[in-house]
Amino acid sequence: MRALAHVGQLGLGQGAPLARAHPGHASPTYPAGMKALVIADMLDDFVVGALANPNAPGIVEPLVRLLDHARADPECVVVFSNDAHDPSDPELRVWGEHAMAGSPGARVIPELEPRPGAGEIISPKRAYGAFEGTGLDEQLRALGVDEVVICGQHAHICVRHSAYGALIRGYRVTVPRDAVCAFEGIDVQEALEYLVMAYGAELTDVATLTAT
Ligand code: ZN
Repeated sequence: MRALAHVGQLGLGQGAPLARAHPGHASPTYPAGMKALVIADMLDDFVVGALANPNAPGIVEPLVRLLDHARADPECVVVFSNDAHDPSDPELRVWGEHAMAGSPGARVIPELEPRPGAGEIISPKRAYGAFEGTGLDEQLRALGVDEVVICGQHAHICVRHSAYGALIRGYRVTVPRDAVCAFEGIDVQEALEYLVMAYGAELTDVATLTAT
């Protein structure tokens, strides 16, 4: 109940418990109103390393603004959803070795250096989705999070699978279009529209999210 008390201290969710559907589990009751900024795969290997993406440097500055804003917002939890692969991971058959757990390529880029000591969540994953066997859902539930802002890369792969994972666990999904990117040759607009069509995502931008 520690997390509930914590949220209560922030004056959130008083008298407004929200029961969230959770397939296969009893629906828990918890306070609502917290948000999570989920930064997907802004790792060395996805920016300058094994799967370097020329489109990634262009979203670093908007991500820094988003991260700074989230860090100053007591109602927002910062999550780094990071590939941290084991050699046995099936996904490596598709992409080859990348972001191997413990390797330099699996580090978050220095511009977005995580602060785990400040309560930021580092969430290693071994597949595309942020919620795929990571325990992130339980961590966010305990904090009363009911909305995830998903950013980073790639709009058509990990952002997409993370948005799906969020939707089916009952989270509202928000995506700032200028803080996500895709591989070259991918229509990022199409990828964003898929998130709206399939997951009911709200598309916005960094200026709007950092305006208040
Ligand atoms: Zn991967």
